[in-house]
Amino acid sequence: NSFIELNLSRPLLRACEALGYHKPTPIQAACIPLALTGRDICGSAVTGSGKTAAFTLPVLERLLFRPKRVRAIRVLILTPTRELAAQVHSMIEKLAQFTDVRCCLVVGGLPTKMQEAALRSMPDIVVATPGRIIDHLRNSVSVGLEDLAVLILDEADRLLELGFSAEIHELIRLCPKRRQTLLFSATMTEEVDQLVKLSLNKPVRLQA
Ligand code: AMP
Repeated sequence: NSFIELNLSRPLLRACEALGYHKPTPIQAACIPLALTGRDICGSAVTGSGKTAAFTLPVLERLLFRPKRVRAIRVLILTPTRELAAQVHSMIEKLAQFTDVRCCLVVGGLPTKMQEAALRSMPDIVVATPGRIIDHLRNSVSVGLEDLAVLILDEADRLLELGFSAEIHELIRLCPKRRQTLLFSATMTEEVDQLVKLSLNKPVRLQA
């Protein structure tokens, strides 16, 4: 029961070590190998379970082997609040510290111009709140989701509670049909289940 057994590359194992992660949490042990196979995942997981690293590590592993010449947004992570987005972004920077993967934060309350520039430089991963990323995608001809490989919906129940349903539907329409989708939610409400049916393809269900 170690990160080495999860088939992660050296730079990611080094990051786990640097963060003092000695062994995977249950959700990480279940999620990482499955996500690496490309399956869609619907995970019941609360904050504190280690869910952020559970979806970040397999995504980083995939990005390590991406074609280097093509610059595009490959991974979009949607979170309900600016605070959570900032936490997820900071966690990704730590886990990606020994890689060349670039991550950018797109949330309300930060200067739009700087975010636009950051998006135009084509980061591999974008962590965003739904409203702000939609504004950018609507107003930009140069930034799109055509090459997106993975969509992650973090705290799906709260995304819906906060009224982001329309934005999420619009974003899903902008994503390629062929993609991997990972959804995490503390509670599995009927609304969350509908979102699962709409956005995930034969998902595996995991319980933290
Ligand atoms: P999360 O549930 O993603 O919000 O993570 C909760 C906390 O657990 C964060 O402070 C992480 O840094 C920490 N954490 C995540 N994975 C591990 C692990 N495998 N070992 C120890 N701590 C971890």
